[in-house]
Amino acid sequence: MANRPPPVVLAIGGHDPTGGAGLVADAQTLSSLGCHPVTAITALTVQDLVSAHQFQMVDSDLLRRQCQVLFNGFPVRAVKIGMLGSAEVVTALAPLLAEAALPLVVDPVLTSGDGSLLAEPRLNAVIHSEIVPLATIVTPNCAEARTLTGTTDIDSAARDLLSAGGNAVLVTGTDDANGPDVIHKLYLTNAAPQIFSFPRLPGSFHGSGCTLASAISAYLARGVELTRAVDNALRYTYDTLRDAIHFSEGQAVPKRWGRHDN
Ligand code: PLP
Repeated sequence: MANRPPPVVLAIGGHDPTGGAGLVADAQTLSSLGCHPVTAITALTVQDLVSAHQFQMVDSDLLRRQCQVLFNGFPVRAVKIGMLGSAEVVTALAPLLAEAALPLVVDPVLTSGDGSLLAEPRLNAVIHSEIVPLATIVTPNCAEARTLTGTTDIDSAARDLLSAGGNAVLVTGTDDANGPDVIHKLYLTNAAPQIFSFPRLPGSFHGSGCTLASAISAYLARGVELTRAVDNALRYTYDTLRDAIHFSEGQAVPKRWGRHDN
């Protein structure tokens, strides 16, 4: 008897050859959470676990065609966006995403873990105006929330993203302050923010944001309600970071494989 197909998630983002972040991270996360990843590459990057050296965008028409063909050929249940890289890519993708009207998780990647730029300067503004309004949830870290909105205060930045049309905003707190706990805040319209707190793990990680956003998209594709999807995904991500692997002196890679959280 044929196997029942798992939920399909389209991951759109950059390729990180280290396997720590980018589409490999998305594919590992989605697979380990019982979904089938289909992928469209926005950019190729040159990097190791210490820093990102260079990136080159993929032709935006080719990217749009890839997404079109995947939407036509698969019963896609959710879309996850990571590195977009250029404003041209946003212009190519936004109409397709609007038409698809699927749960959309947006990780607004602007830099790599060491702070190297993975975006052209104009990208902030077009993510804010064209992608945020389509998002089921946007998952910036504190630095990304500030850059996207030009607002220093995190509560105000999150409210700004909701006013721009985002349905929900999860601001992750790993990059903020240095207390014993990491505080993540989920903002929904007309509600007080919900707090998710985890013990701060030592060291730094390559692909934690990708893992989290992909995990949220996996739970949404499986039909889990948004707040529960966020809670599940944060716990899953914490476990992958607690068990992360050190391949070199650089950032550790979240252990997304060999898990059975389905
Ligand atoms: N996407 C790509 C292609 C990357 O290279 C990176 C970081 O290097 C990211 C996303 C973001 O990674 P993180 O999840 O560590 O924020």
